[in-house]
Amino acid sequence: MTNEDISKIKELLDTPKKIVIVPHKGPDGDAMGSTLALKLLLENRHHYVQLIAPNDYPEFLKWLPYSEEVINYEKEQEKSNEYIAEADVIFTLDFNHLSRAGEMKEALETAKADFIMIDHHQQPDDYAVVTYSDVTMCSTSQMVYHFIHNIGLEDHINAQIATCLYTGIMTDTGSFRYRSTTSLTHRVIADLIERGADNTNIHENVYDTNSYSRLQLLGVALQNLKVVEGLRTAYIVLSQEELDHHNFKKGDTEGFVNYGLSLSGIVFAAIFIENRADNIIKISLRSKGTFSVNDFARKHFQGGGHINAAGGKSDLNLAETIAKFISILPDYKTSLSI
Ligand code: 5GP
Ligand code: MN
Repeated sequence: MTNEDISKIKELLDTPKKIVIVPHKGPDGDAMGSTLALKLLLENRHHYVQLIAPNDYPEFLKWLPYSEEVINYEKEQEKSNEYIAEADVIFTLDFNHLSRAGEMKEALETAKADFIMIDHHQQPDDYAVVTYSDVTMCSTSQMVYHFIHNIGLEDHINAQIATCLYTGIMTDTGSFRYRSTTSLTHRVIADLIERGADNTNIHENVYDTNSYSRLQLLGVALQNLKVVEGLRTAYIVLSQEELDHHNFKKGDTEGFVNYGLSLSGIVFAAIFIENRADNIIKISLRSKGTFSVNDFARKHFQGGGHINAAGGKSDLNLAETIAKFISILPDYKTSLSI
């Protein structure tokens, strides 16, 4: 962050303000961890804060401190629109394009508030008065940690805030294994533990709370795993019937795409999940090395993300989407074949 940005934020937050904080649609651990941490910090500094999520978030995050105070825009649209219209400041976290806020986009576009963006995705839009964007960061949660330091409020990071930030960093780094995990990330994590984040508890709360039906669904996903010979690619398909049959709940398929990438020799993995309610196929993409799934998602599947983790969607049906995917792959032969 520049000194100018820091002064602007200090000035904006100098007196109690009406603040709205927004994570991206389909919020993940980093989106919820970063927004909840910021909400707790700003409330402790006497601001009036509403955290409004575009839609619901996974069960495995609902133990997070104060998560019961999150407003779901899909369920409380009218009330949310009022908060957005009346806000002095709106923070958008873990996304950088208002379309990623789903149905909230319109209300955000017409808001009179000053926007502050904190995000680590590629190609940020320019809707904010302060854009704190850093694509080298492993997570928005680590950025919120630095943001808090930059505005001189680090002594206000209590155990609950530390827990939220730890959770966001842990989930977005695949438990501290992805390339974006640096020595600085580990220093931040060490400080969060010292401030009261209980690492063992957090890992158990997120990763050891599977339902039986989710593990059965993982079994189906692994049965459906296919390898594209000669192109170091693996993909999984899950139909609506398969999801229904295993009592699918939001978040149940989180992490499934990584199994494709765990196959020896595979550098590109995808999962295609049918969503009949929204009439789309939701796609998650992962890669190893230099193959950019961000570019791939942007070019072919209305999405984006990072070099090694991105997502998108398709309006074709499941079979057509897979056929499209398979037909595109040979265009990437130089980067995908050995
Ligand atoms: P996931 O596959 O876990 O849903 O998302 C992986 C990464 O891609 C995340 O950083 C997420 O924000 C981004 N992403 C997922 N879906 C979309 C999408 O539809 N559009 C864009 N622009 N980014 C996405
Ligand atoms: Mn993130």
